[in-house]
Amino acid sequence: MITSTEQDCLQCGRCCERWGWGQKGIVEDIIPWIIQNRQDILQHVSVWFTDGQRVSGSALTRDDLARIARIRYWQDPDGKELRRCPFFWRSDDGRSWCRIHDLKPRVCREFTPWNWKNLEYYGNCPACRDKAP
Ligand code: SF4
Ligand code: SF4
Repeated sequence: MITSTEQDCLQCGRCCERWGWGQKGIVEDIIPWIIQNRQDILQHVSVWFTDGQRVSGSALTRDDLARIARIRYWQDPDGKELRRCPFFWRSDDGRSWCRIHDLKPRVCREFTPWNWKNLEYYGNCPACRDKAP
C-alpha cells in the first residue's frame, strides 16, 4: 500500500497479498531497523553474508552491514520463508494496512504501479484501472 501524490491507493491490499513476500531487500532498509532495535521487523528478515552464511536479521549488528551479500523478506522467527507479509493487516471495513508503514522497505515504499508499464502490476491494481499506461 502506497500513498502517492499522483494516484490514490484504494488500500485494497492486493499488492501486499500478492507480492508482499519473497522480495529482495537492501541494506538501507535494515539500518534504521537496527538503530531502533526493531526486533519485531528484524526477526522476519533473512540475511546471507558474503561467506554464504545465513542468519536472521535479529542477529545483526551494524558491524555486519559491510558483509551482507543478500537480503530477503520475509521469514518466520524460526527462519522458514513466509508466503505472506507478517505486517499486513485488514480492518473490519475491508481496508488494508501496513503495520510498519513508517519503516517499510523500499520495495514497498516505491510500489507505484500507476507509473509503470508492467501489466502484471497495473492490471492487478484497481487504482490503476482508469490510468493504465
Ligand atoms: S493494489 Fe493498488 S489500490 Fe490496492 S493496495 Fe496496492 S497500490 Fe493500493
Ligand atoms: S511491509 Fe507493509 S507495504 Fe510491504 S508488503 Fe507488508 S504490509 Fe504491504
